Amino acid sequence: MKQVLNFINGQHEASDKTFPKHSPLNNTVIADVHEASRTQVDAAVAAARAALDGPWGKMSVAERVERLYAVADGINKRFDEFLAAECADTGKPRSLASHIDIPRGAANFKVFADVVKNVATEFFETATPDGKSAINYGYRTPVGVVGVICPWNLPLLLMTWKVGPALACGNTVVVKPSEETPQTAALLGEVMNEAGIPPGVYNVVHGFGPDSAGEFVTTHPGVDAITFTGETRTGEIIMKAAAKGSRPVSLEMGGKNAAIIFEDADFDAAIEGTLRSAFVNSGQVCLGTERVYVQRPIFDKFVAELKKQVEGWKIGLPEEADTKLGPVISKEHQAKVLSYYKLAVEEGATVVTGGGVPNMGAGFSDGAWVQPTIWTGLPETARVIKEEIFGPCCHIAPFDTEEEVLAKANDNVYGLATAIWTRDVSRAHRVAQKMKVGLSWVNSWFLRDLRTPFGGAKQSGIGREGGVHSLEFYTELKNVCIKL
Ligand code: NAD
Repeated sequence: MKQVLNFINGQHEASDKTFPKHSPLNNTVIADVHEASRTQVDAAVAAARAALDGPWGKMSVAERVERLYAVADGINKRFDEFLAAECADTGKPRSLASHIDIPRGAANFKVFADVVKNVATEFFETATPDGKSAINYGYRTPVGVVGVICPWNLPLLLMTWKVGPALACGNTVVVKPSEETPQTAALLGEVMNEAGIPPGVYNVVHGFGPDSAGEFVTTHPGVDAITFTGETRTGEIIMKAAAKGSRPVSLEMGGKNAAIIFEDADFDAAIEGTLRSAFVNSGQVCLGTERVYVQRPIFDKFVAELKKQVEGWKIGLPEEADTKLGPVISKEHQAKVLSYYKLAVEEGATVVTGGGVPNMGAGFSDGAWVQPTIWTGLPETARVIKEEIFGPCCHIAPFDTEEEVLAKANDNVYGLATAIWTRDVSRAHRVAQKMKVGLSWVNSWFLRDLRTPFGGAKQSGIGREGGVHSLEFYTELKNVCIKL
C-alpha cells in the first residue's frame, strides 16, 4: 500500500498512526496516510522557526527568488507525477487538472517570486519643527512561521496559492493539507529539497481538524499567523484559535455565488460560462455558481440549452480524454450533496435534469458519483437557494428588473463571487459594483490574474490575497523614520 508521509525539516517522516485514503472512484483504499502526532507538529513548528532564524531568514531576496523559480520548474519537471497524485486523490479529470491545478501550482511560485522581486515600498519626507526634515520608508519583514490549512477541492493550486507568497516573503510554513488530498503536498517536499529550499522552510503534517494536526497547528503558540481556505464554520473555529496570542488570520471560506444573465447577453458565451461555473470540478469550486438568475425573455431558452449541454457532458474516469465530470471527493460529501438533491424536491423544486446517482457500471458503484443537476421553481427562501452545497448543481430563477435581481443575488450570508452576463457596458459596471462580493466577473468566470486581489466579503472571508495584497498578510510592514 502506498504510504503518504509527513514532511518535517526536509525529511519524510512516518507516524505511529495512519488513516486510509479512499479513492472517490470506487471507495477502495489507495494509500495509508501518516497522521502527525502533537509531538511531530511541535517538531515541524520548531524546524520552521530554526529555518526562519537560520539559512532562509538570512538569504537575500534575489537568492530566495531564484530558489522559488526552481520550485516552479521542479513541479513542471515532475508534472506527470503531480497530475497522477492529484487525480488519484480527487478523481477529477486529467484534462482539467493538467490545465488548471498543476500549472497553477507551479505558477504560484513564479508569480509571487516576481511580486516580491519587483514591489516598491512607500516613502515620505516630513517637515520637522527645526526647519529640517525626516524621511520615512516602509520596510517589510516576514511575519514568521505561517500555519497553512488547506481544503480538498483544488489541493495543489490552493496550497501553493498560500505557500508561494508566504515563502517569497521570507516566511516558513507548516502546511496541513486536507485529509482527503494529502499526496501532492507530500510530493512537493521532494521538489523543495531538489530546488535547494533549506530544511524546515516547508513542512507538511497530515491529519484531520479537531484533536488532530489541524488543531495542533492552529493552536500552536509557535505559529505566528494562520492562513486558511475551507468552510466558514471551520474558519470561525480557526479565528477563535488565532485570537490567543492575537495572531493574524487570512480566511478564504464558503460561497453561494450568483450568476446574473441579462437578456442582451451573448447567449452562447453565457451558456458556456455558466456551464463551467456550475459543473466544472463537479461543482466543487469555491467560486462556482449555484444560483443562476436569467432575465425572463430568455429564461426558457436558457434552461433548455443548459440542460442540453450538461447532459452532453461525459461522466467518467480521470484518464478518459472526453471525461468532463468526475465523482465528488468522498462518500461523505456524496451523502451531503444527495441530501440537498432530496431536500430540493421536498422544497418544491422542478428537477430539470439529474437529481440522483449515475450508473457507472461494475467496479465503480461504490464511488462518490452524483449526477449534474438543474432545478427551477424554488422560492428564494428555500435552503437549497441559501446554503452552500458544493456539488454539480444549480437552481435557475427568472427575473424582470436589474433592481430585483440585485436584491435577490445579494440576499445571502456569503459574498465571494459573481458572474454578470450583459452587452450593456453601463449596466455591467453598475451591477458589478453593487454586488456585495469580493470578485465580480463580467462576461467571464474564473478568469484570474494572480496580481489582482482575491477574497470574500461577508461570511466568505477576511482579507485579500493576490499580488501585492498577499504582502499585507505575509509581511510586517515597518516604518523606518530617520531625522535628517
Ligand atoms: P473544511 O473547512 O472542512 O476543511 C478545510 C481544512 O480545515 C482541512 O484541512 C481540515 O482538516 C481543516 N480543519 C477542519 N476542522 C479544523 C479545526 N477545528 N481546526 C483546524 N483545522 C481544521 O473545508 P473543505 O470541505 O476541505 O473545503 C470545502 C470548503 O472550502 C467549501 O466551503 C468551499 O467554499 C471552501 N473554499 C473556499 C475557497 C475560497 O477561496 N474562498 C476556495 C476553496 C474552497
